[in-house]
Amino acid sequence: MTEAAARTNLLDLDRAGLERFFAETLGEKRFRAHQVMKWIYHQHVTDFSQMTDVGKALRAKLETHAEIRPPSVQFDKPSADGTHKWLLGMDAGNAIETVFIPDKGRGTLCVSSQVGCGLNCQFCSTATQGFNRNLSTAEIIGQVWVASRHLGNRAHVHRKLTNVVMMGMGEPLLNFDNVVRAMSLMRDDLGFGLANKRVTLSTAGLVPMIDRLGAESDVALAVSLHAPNDELRTQLVPLNRKYPIAELMAACVRYLRQRRKGESITFEYTLMKGVNDDPATARELARLMRRFCNEVQYADAAKVNLIPFNPFPGTRFERSDEATIRAFQKILLDAGVLTMVRRTRGDDIDAACGQLKGQVMDRTRRQAEFRKKLEREGLSHEAA
Ligand code: SF4
Repeated sequence: MTEAAARTNLLDLDRAGLERFFAETLGEKRFRAHQVMKWIYHQHVTDFSQMTDVGKALRAKLETHAEIRPPSVQFDKPSADGTHKWLLGMDAGNAIETVFIPDKGRGTLCVSSQVGCGLNCQFCSTATQGFNRNLSTAEIIGQVWVASRHLGNRAHVHRKLTNVVMMGMGEPLLNFDNVVRAMSLMRDDLGFGLANKRVTLSTAGLVPMIDRLGAESDVALAVSLHAPNDELRTQLVPLNRKYPIAELMAACVRYLRQRRKGESITFEYTLMKGVNDDPATARELARLMRRFCNEVQYADAAKVNLIPFNPFPGTRFERSDEATIRAFQKILLDAGVLTMVRRTRGDDIDAACGQLKGQVMDRTRRQAEFRKKLEREGLSHEAA
């Protein structure tokens, strides 16, 4: 094993994990772990020698057993409208995108959870690449770290990055442990200190994992709905075959019942011309949302986020026109459903929703690398 591989990347550990590491590996007190967390997340320091309130002996132990290794920035690309995209290298051939979107009084970072995605939603650019692998905790929190350092964020002052949405590449609930750990660092005062409601996890609708998330975390939930009935949704989101709308909405009701009164779930709805943007479908969506609010017994329990489709090469879908989008929104608003239209941002850098793509090593190369790895480890392909 190489020296680098033997060292623990501290970005992989949440507060509890870091305290354990300090106690069990370094023989140090918990508060030492807290000091180091502040250096990492409040000051963006990766070099132990710069941690001036950490004693020399501990710094030496840290050098031996630990490292702070955020993802490498392959390029960063600002957009004319203030949007900023980073391409972050993960390993040979793989990279992911992270996008910062500033808006009035807030700045939202869109974070990825996997390299590629296996859920195959029909309108999604990431889906065309297939699934490669889950991101580690360090690779997930590292996206926030890179953006935060670039934006000059300091603990609770000068905060440009105010919100994180787990809405980039991948289905976050299929990488549950790493995502939950990273989201805990986003909300920890010794981490990025964001309020629970400012960290949102967006899922295509993995029902059992929504229940697990409700039990183990306390973040805001967004659901990629895109259709109000099973026939249409199954065509757009194949996962719907396994977890149809009734089961999904029941999980959403359970999720909100565990939260404080007044919280809501955002339902994402990508509008595609002639597919899911007609008035009858809008009325069906409004009825679904009203039923949900009635069940939760809170009038504004559902928020609908209408997303004009962003075309990408090879897609068969088109963006709905402006008048259709407005008419769709009006039907929902008239039915008393809180409905926003997401403005398209970062068009000049391909950073708009559904355009996060990154670079995923193609399957053939992946298989060749895998065979090589097996050979190196003395295993035949068949034995694996
Ligand atoms: S929309 Fe999300 S869950 Fe669906 S394929 Fe794309 S990244 Fe995966």
